[in-house]
Amino acid sequence: MAPKVVNRPVYLDYAAATPVDPRVIEEMVNCLKIEGNFANSASRDHVYGWEALDKVENARSKVADLVGASPLEIYFTSGATESSNLAILGLAKGLFKKGDLRRHLITTKIEHKAVLESCRVLESEGYKVTYLDTLPDGSVTPELLEKALSEDTFLVSIAEANSVVGTVNDIHALANLCQKREIYFHSDCAQSAGYFTHDLSHSAISLVSLTPEKICGPKGVGALFVNKEQDIPLSPLIVGGGQERGLRSGTVATHQVVGMGKAFEIMQKEGQSDFQRINGLREYLKNELSALKGVVINGSDTHHLPSVLSVTFKSVEAHVLLASLRTLAASTGSACNSKSLEPSYILLALGVNEQDAKSTVRFSLGRFTTLEELQRVVAEIKEKLPLLRQK
Ligand SMILES: *Cc1c(COP(=O)(O)O)cnc(C)c1O
Repeated sequence: MAPKVVNRPVYLDYAAATPVDPRVIEEMVNCLKIEGNFANSASRDHVYGWEALDKVENARSKVADLVGASPLEIYFTSGATESSNLAILGLAKGLFKKGDLRRHLITTKIEHKAVLESCRVLESEGYKVTYLDTLPDGSVTPELLEKALSEDTFLVSIAEANSVVGTVNDIHALANLCQKREIYFHSDCAQSAGYFTHDLSHSAISLVSLTPEKICGPKGVGALFVNKEQDIPLSPLIVGGGQERGLRSGTVATHQVVGMGKAFEIMQKEGQSDFQRINGLREYLKNELSALKGVVINGSDTHHLPSVLSVTFKSVEAHVLLASLRTLAASTGSACNSKSLEPSYILLALGVNEQDAKSTVRFSLGRFTTLEELQRVVAEIKEKLPLLRQK
């Protein structure tokens, strides 16, 4: 049967998932085949195992290099979700075992669910959680954070970049404040690694969640950065064979980890040029759309990802707009929520009213986005938007 030819719409949902770079796929496939590095990297009795271990450690170095860390500070996990669970729940458990009596942690209302739900688990165990309101653009200043710190605080978890509006925080400034008070600082850097997230070694940042899936690497793999200059008592959440120096048991998924390493290596070499090009495309889209009537751009005008643009089209429901646009595949919220027609909790927490939140589209761009694609999308929005508003 001949493959069905479909004209697929322009993909502008990179913040949910990215296509995997062909160079990454090639390295991953080499880790699956009989003539490649398919072996268990924990097998010490033959050359197959040694070679697989070599690949895993090489990938660990690439991941470390991109974020300015030492390979000793990188622990592979199944993704940023697991990394954030390990950071928050593992630290609470580890501190409890050490007899640390602090039971308060701080996060924001606009964190990813992986962080929020980890906090909820601790709340159900008697911990106290402060869910900070950010500024309306989605940022948190050291002054805002400082007011919430108390003697009882042991952890602050604030993302470097928000996945819905793309606002970027100065996590070094936030972490410095925490370090002065001997409070651990965790950051979800799933969206920002490659574009931001620098100089983690010797920094005040304790823990960082990483994933390659937003920068043209595979899903189902991630890493946790654990600052080796701080005494961070993490208890593992997954126990077994003691892989990843006892912090995360389970056979290391060589092909996934190698894919992550390659994706990070490409970002190390091309990240800054990707940043400039993608940011230029975002500027184009922002300028074209903000010139239209009843259009509002959300988030920060100065501190933002190059890849995310959140746009409110007043008086048009976003899911209606997206359904009527044949050229565009974008998102009404984060992927975890886009099944329901509920507006994004993140937009609501930023003070966007319910109707406007329901009228908001997240455009997210990436390595394979082109100007020609954006021109097609813009042209169709200009055509359809007035028609939809008339209804
Ligand atoms: C995608 C994403 C995650 C989840 O990462 P997984 O690797 O899928 O677990 C967490 N936080 C943010 C901000 C994200 O964008």
